[in-house]
Amino acid sequence: MAEARLEYRLFIGGSWVPASSGRLIEVEEASTGEPLAEVPEASEADLEEAVEAAAAALPGWSGTPIEERASVLERIAEGISQRTEELATSISREVGTPIRHSRAIQVGNPLQIIAGTVEAARREPLEEEVGNVRVLREPAGVVAAITPWNYPLQQVVAKLAPALAAGCTVVLKVSEVAPLTAFTLAQIAADAGLPGGALNVLTGYGASTGERLVCHRLVDHISFTGSTRAGRRISRLAAERVTPLTMELGGKSASVLLDDAEIEKAAKFCVYNAFLNAGQTCTALTRLLVPRRLQERAVEVAAETASKLAPGDPLDEATRLGPLASSRQLERVRSYIRQGVQAGARLAAGGAEPPAGLERGFYVRPTVFADVEPEMVIAQEEIFGPVLSVIPYESEEAALRIANGTPYGLAGAVWSADQEHALDFARHMRCGTVEVNGGAFSLTAPFGGVKLSGHGREFGRYGLEEFLVPKSLQL
Ligand code: NAD
Repeated sequence: MAEARLEYRLFIGGSWVPASSGRLIEVEEASTGEPLAEVPEASEADLEEAVEAAAAALPGWSGTPIEERASVLERIAEGISQRTEELATSISREVGTPIRHSRAIQVGNPLQIIAGTVEAARREPLEEEVGNVRVLREPAGVVAAITPWNYPLQQVVAKLAPALAAGCTVVLKVSEVAPLTAFTLAQIAADAGLPGGALNVLTGYGASTGERLVCHRLVDHISFTGSTRAGRRISRLAAERVTPLTMELGGKSASVLLDDAEIEKAAKFCVYNAFLNAGQTCTALTRLLVPRRLQERAVEVAAETASKLAPGDPLDEATRLGPLASSRQLERVRSYIRQGVQAGARLAAGGAEPPAGLERGFYVRPTVFADVEPEMVIAQEEIFGPVLSVIPYESEEAALRIANGTPYGLAGAVWSADQEHALDFARHMRCGTVEVNGGAFSLTAPFGGVKLSGHGREFGRYGLEEFLVPKSLQL
């Protein structure tokens, strides 16, 4: 079918075009390591065309009434919903997410994000009076959106929906590791009536296509989600033109069990959370802090829960833990597990060797470390794999110090039989989001980090505001 071929082209100015470089990037299947697809590597000329198309589309799209922009987004959500199975399967193959999680989270979350954005856009006053001044809230302009591979559709939608709702136009550079759903999304957006040029999709590497996009003279705002390493580099490049940035970076989040917490429930929750998407989640609660006297019980529960999560084929409906997304990830995660052992942490489950019978593909064993010291590398650095560190603590003050004692500040969790006590602890945690006694993750409340986890917020009203710039008319 014609469309299947079009999916592997660049989407520029509303048309599918081959990369002028003629170069292709190979995408690997997570469960086998075999080639899954080839996508174009955008050249400098392609990038130029894409940014110019976005700039040319800006006056028309920003002048489109907000109600019409909201309707286009709702139609995009409908299109995503109708193609759930195709999108979910594609993500399971390129990222390795178990198919049930792909449907519910990888495709389900973007639908909620669009709904929350549309609702906020309809409510948000785009003009207000401040004394004698009429304050207009104008679209930021041409947005460069750069996204990672772990939740490929969600990360794109979390930028695209608010940017488009605000009246911005977008050049999207998706991750070279998991680019496939972006092509489907572009087709869905075109079918939903999004004008040509309002969304342009490029595939390419970060160091070439990504950096050129960040430095482009016509880019007015950069919205980046990815590693702190790349976030730093992009921030430096953006400083040259003082381009405003939204930065959603890495994390090393702590789940703190206070003295009176329901230990079984909290430890189980932490393992499921930390191992979701094989641990490739920026908010993963990868450090479990427990009072020293409760450590053995917590480790027992965590190890037992982890051992029930047998890795398996992501396309199998029964699988709860799939492979990692790439060979690079596999090497990285195994190396961290080895470092944990060498540093003297106690291996309570898993290990660096491949799971039995799964020598092909990027599988790793769900791993739990006990007796982890807060300063060990495995307790400080983002591993991005199914590796949990149980860290014993002596006092609540020490727990807070340890929880706040990494360079990151994305998410956290706290558990106590006394909700007020848990809330008080949560107030002192230095991070953007805290789950209190297992409170559900929201896709409309502000989401983002502090410290090396970045700045700026996504989702709902706060996400929309990233793409609006106030202008004062003095009357
Ligand atoms: P990455 O930083 O390697 O790549 C992310 C994107 O940036 C890719 O599209 C890549 O091509 C591009 N890129 C890389 N270097 C670049 C450069 N110098 N200039 C411009 N673009 C560049 O990250 P990844 O491995 O794809 O994703 C995993 C990371 O993303 C983890 O650190 C994770 O915590 C983080 N993440 C954060 C959030 C959040 O909301 N805070 C969400 C998901 C993932």
